[in-house]
Amino acid sequence: MKDCIFCKIIKGEIPTNKVYENDRILAFKDIQPQAPVHVVIIPKEHIPDVEHLNAENASIMADIALGVKEVAKLTGVNQTGYRLINNCGKQAGQTVFHLHFHLLAGKDLSDRMV
Ligand code: AMP
Ligand code: ZN
Repeated sequence: MKDCIFCKIIKGEIPTNKVYENDRILAFKDIQPQAPVHVVIIPKEHIPDVEHLNAENASIMADIALGVKEVAKLTGVNQTGYRLINNCGKQAGQTVFHLHFHLLAGKDLSDRMV
C-alpha cells in the first residue's frame, strides 16, 4: 500500500527500531511510547484493520500471537506481564490503518477500562 507508514517501514523506507521479524510479521518500538516497553506488532501483508480479516488472511492472527510471545521474551516481560491492545477504526482511536497490536509493559498498568 503506497501511502501506508507501516508498509514503508516494512520496505525499509522509514527507519525503525526493530525488535523481532520473521517472514510474515514485524515488531518495532513505538515512536511515541506509552510505557517503558511499547512494541508494535504488524503483519507484512497490508491489512487495514481487524474488520478486514477474512477466511483467507486470518491465519496471520496466529503468527501475530506467536510474535507477541517472542517480543515479550525478547523484551524481558514474559514473566512480569504485558498488555496487548488493538484499536480498530476511528472511534477506537486507530491512527495507522495497517493492522497492528500494541504490546505495553514495564510499569503498573492496572488502571484500565476493562
Ligand atoms: P494506533 O493509534 O492504534 O493506530 O497506533 C499507531 C501507533 O503507531 C502509534 O502508537 C504511533 O506512535 C505509532 N507510530 C506511528 N508512526 C510510527 C513510526 N514511524 N515508527 C514507530 N511507531 C510509529
Ligand atoms: Zn500498510
